[in-house]
Amino acid sequence: MIISGKELAKEVKENIARKVASYKIEYGREPNLCVILVGDDPASAGYVRSKGKAAEAVGFSHTEINLPADITEHQLIDRIKELNDDDSVDGILVQLPLPKHIRKHRIIEAIDPNKDVDGFHAKNVDALWHRIPGIRACTPKGIIKLLDKAGVEIAGKHAVVIGRSNIVGFPVAKLLLDRNATVTIAHSHTEDLGQITRQADILVVAIGQPKLIKGDMVKEGAAVIDVGISRDPETGKICGDVDFDEVEPKAGVITPVPGGVGPMTIACLMENTLDCYTRKMQW
Ligand code: NAD
Repeated sequence: MIISGKELAKEVKENIARKVASYKIEYGREPNLCVILVGDDPASAGYVRSKGKAAEAVGFSHTEINLPADITEHQLIDRIKELNDDDSVDGILVQLPLPKHIRKHRIIEAIDPNKDVDGFHAKNVDALWHRIPGIRACTPKGIIKLLDKAGVEIAGKHAVVIGRSNIVGFPVAKLLLDRNATVTIAHSHTEDLGQITRQADILVVAIGQPKLIKGDMVKEGAAVIDVGISRDPETGKICGDVDFDEVEPKAGVITPVPGGVGPMTIACLMENTLDCYTRKMQW
């Protein structure tokens, strides 16, 4: 079974749009998402446009702030502080990656944790690790929703997560652990990747290596979640970390690339923005 992230994302966004319509009447304004783009990298600009489109579709207002690639770290932090202090802004996101002279962690830490819709701020990461309320990172949250939608049992299963970034691998491993899976995290130093992946009932791959996971690396009936977004070196088309044609016949369920995890990341970003707004309005 192929799990369509597109369809589930549509459902999530329709649900948000319904809530926005009634909150607008109750609180007098819609949620407002602010997205900062530093420089003009075409891929980043594309992601920012998609986020803006999704915000419009659910009835949010949104502002795209374009800043030059040579902006200093200080200037960028000052701009973020202005947005932190602006009561009409509910969510702030700085599109990654940033130019090399800007330290990512300094920028993430400058965002008000209550407006950190990406869930990357140390306070929100801390909340995840301590299992207390906070903003959860969008991609890991989307992955759990996809597994639930597909009816995949998580408790008691062996989940293998490949990749240990703070954005995907690490937090998704924690969310799976919190759902009572037994979790193994593999990474670039893992010696025999296939030996580990073949044990997985749930396999989440977030490495950024086109089609690295082959059919013989996957257990029959496994749930396979492909987070990677790369270009196939042969065809130039967008592809994932999983060799879809080889793995799909063996997998119980699998997400495609594109149209799997990607749309869910954006849907969960909208959900996080709505949560930031409602928390503020209901305070
Ligand atoms: P990252 O580069 O920060 O982390 C990659 C991880 O993969 C590292 O932990 C590394 O140890 C591991 N790795 C690399 N090569 C490996 C190998 N050969 N074997 C085992 N492990 C290996 O990347 P990231 O930010 O976590 O993103 C991973 C991929 O997911 C990228 O393709 C990225 O574009 C994509 N991504 C997609 C979404 C989405 O919404 N679909 C969101 C975030 C990231």
